[in-house]
Amino acid sequence: MSIKEIVEQLKKELGNCKLVAVSKTHSPEKILEAYKAGQRLFGENRVQELCEKQPKLPADIEWHQIGSLQTNKVKYIAPFVSLVHSVETLKLLAEIDRQALKSNRTINCLLQMHIATEETKHGLDVKELEQLLTSTEYSAMKNIQICGLMGMATNTNNEAQVRKEFRGLRQLFDELKRGHFANQLCFAELSMGMSSDYKIALEEGSTMVRIGSKVFG
Ligand SMILES: *Cc1c(COP(=O)(O)O)cnc(C)c1O
Repeated sequence: MSIKEIVEQLKKELGNCKLVAVSKTHSPEKILEAYKAGQRLFGENRVQELCEKQPKLPADIEWHQIGSLQTNKVKYIAPFVSLVHSVETLKLLAEIDRQALKSNRTINCLLQMHIATEETKHGLDVKELEQLLTSTEYSAMKNIQICGLMGMATNTNNEAQVRKEFRGLRQLFDELKRGHFANQLCFAELSMGMSSDYKIALEEGSTMVRIGSKVFG
């Protein structure tokens, strides 16, 4: 199938859940193919690569930073990034806030939670999340907006394990929506699911899947 056909098929399958086409390592030509099929959200995990591609492609693309982000690189993407999926420290959030102010913007962010069994996977645990949200530094930030949570499940064929991790993240998301973020309509996104596990994520209430290899090969 062509990129266009895959994008069209995925969109049907996803319904209201948003598709972030993960275009890391893929050429601007391939990205344009997906764009021509109506795709507008693209995810990249390396700042340098993102900054090289962004000016070459249509201005109405929404670029998402999906991989771990170093504090000293925030300044390069702050002028244009539309959503940062991978906020896992207060320090990083503070830098995004600072750079967003310089660009005269508000930057939308997701907090990345550690839900996998692998230690190498990134993200906050529940206690760290609590500390971040109740910190005075966080409450003083004016140029960031927390729009939801992101998580990556364990890389395993054990479907029950993956489902359990996604379900736990969904429960935390719902609790925060009722609790800390009550009355904040912008807290609405749950980014979970990749090529190998997006069907499970969808069943467990994902609002945004990040799909790379299935789209671009
Ligand atoms: C690469 C990547 C994806 C997409 O993975 P695929 O298996 O290619 O769909 C999703 N999320 C993150 C954080 C990634 O780095």
